[in-house]
Amino acid sequence: MSEQHQNLAIIGHVDHGKSTLVGRLLYETGSVPEHVIEQHREEAEEKGKGGFEFAYVMDNLAEERERGVTIDIAHQEFSTDEYDFTIVDCPGHRDFVKNMITGASQADNAVLVVAADDGVAPQTQEHVFLARTLGIDELIIGINKMDIVDYEESTYDEVVDEVTQLLKQVQFNTDDASFIPISAFEGDNIAEESDNTPWYDGEILLEALNDLPEPEPPTDAPLRLPIQDVYTISGIGTVPVGRIETGVMNTGDDVVFQPSDVGGEVKTIEMHHEEVPKAEPGDNVGFNVRGIGKDDIRRGDVCGPADDPPKVAETFQAQVVVMQHPSVITAGYTPVFHAHTAQVACTIESIDKKMDPSSGEVAEENPDFIQSGDAAVVTIRPQKPLSIEPSSEIPELGSFAIRDMGQTIAAGKVLSVDEK
Ligand code: GDP
Repeated sequence: MSEQHQNLAIIGHVDHGKSTLVGRLLYETGSVPEHVIEQHREEAEEKGKGGFEFAYVMDNLAEERERGVTIDIAHQEFSTDEYDFTIVDCPGHRDFVKNMITGASQADNAVLVVAADDGVAPQTQEHVFLARTLGIDELIIGINKMDIVDYEESTYDEVVDEVTQLLKQVQFNTDDASFIPISAFEGDNIAEESDNTPWYDGEILLEALNDLPEPEPPTDAPLRLPIQDVYTISGIGTVPVGRIETGVMNTGDDVVFQPSDVGGEVKTIEMHHEEVPKAEPGDNVGFNVRGIGKDDIRRGDVCGPADDPPKVAETFQAQVVVMQHPSVITAGYTPVFHAHTAQVACTIESIDKKMDPSSGEVAEENPDFIQSGDAAVVTIRPQKPLSIEPSSEIPELGSFAIRDMGQTIAAGKVLSVDEK
């Protein structure tokens, strides 16, 4: 096992081979429990189709998909020498955008899968744009299904050119992208150098994953701890709980809760049922603040240092991407915004600019409406106090999902906050 952890997104157009690649990664890294393989091997042998262990892994993933119990390839784990990887929800899955920007599943880096026989397809474009908007650091691009195109170098080069152009269009730094010719199905250039691509001398996929930059723990940022719940515990008193997104909390710190606008000194911090003097990003904690009662604070508040308090927005400007909306979005529209643990109805006060989703450039100033597929800069007025931060300052508290009619209809990141 490795020390460092990474959340990895596998993105790309439907049918380009994302699930197959995840299956291959799990298989090659020995992440499928032996008893699972064993059980499937026996079943397969009974049915007279023994022999190919990888097929069992794929059957297993496919079965899960059919049963619809879990989001098939999400939350699978595998390790390289450097990192423990968790695969986070993939675009296309119902709540991907929401999970990616509000949940614990924020991806650090991503693998973009592009089928060599199909090249850049609509979702390739959409996912690359989303990855850039949501702040993915590095992209590994697996040009997949090389077996179908007879491992032709010229086909690979064409697809690499196509993807490079796309990355430039959305202003993704192409220095932070590496390309690898692979076959998820046959296993070429995943765990071992393939004899089928003698013309390729770059890293194979597992090497590239192992060489990804370390995610930087956001300990330098000020403390931001969105409150999930507030309990009353006998003998202790009021105990807000939540996950530290950025910064550090020490006992004795002077903290404040926004937008509830109350504060005090941290008396105790508890983690895994033990008292600790200090907690860091990623830690789930319960804590107790002198003088704070159960009704003074609530879910959706953010706890931060009294001398660098969480911002409360009168209005904020944000860049949004509309994922799916049955009609059009105009000024005055008031859906529910999900940001960290808060859910607040917010009015889109003005649509300031429409952007070209493939280039990121301004396509229209003050458009009358936006619709599915559009990216825009909008000004938003929360209908109740909301604590939110500019994404450039504290990305962990600077993004949101917009939900309406039981669906995530848009995602966005905060450009600037006008405080109350
Ligand atoms: P997803 O929708 O992106 O998750 O794609 P899947 O992993 O479900 O793959 C779609 C189809 O492509 C399946 O029939 C796979 O067996 C096939 N496939 C995936 N990777 C490869 C590959 O490297 N070579 C070949 N020949 N087929 C592949």
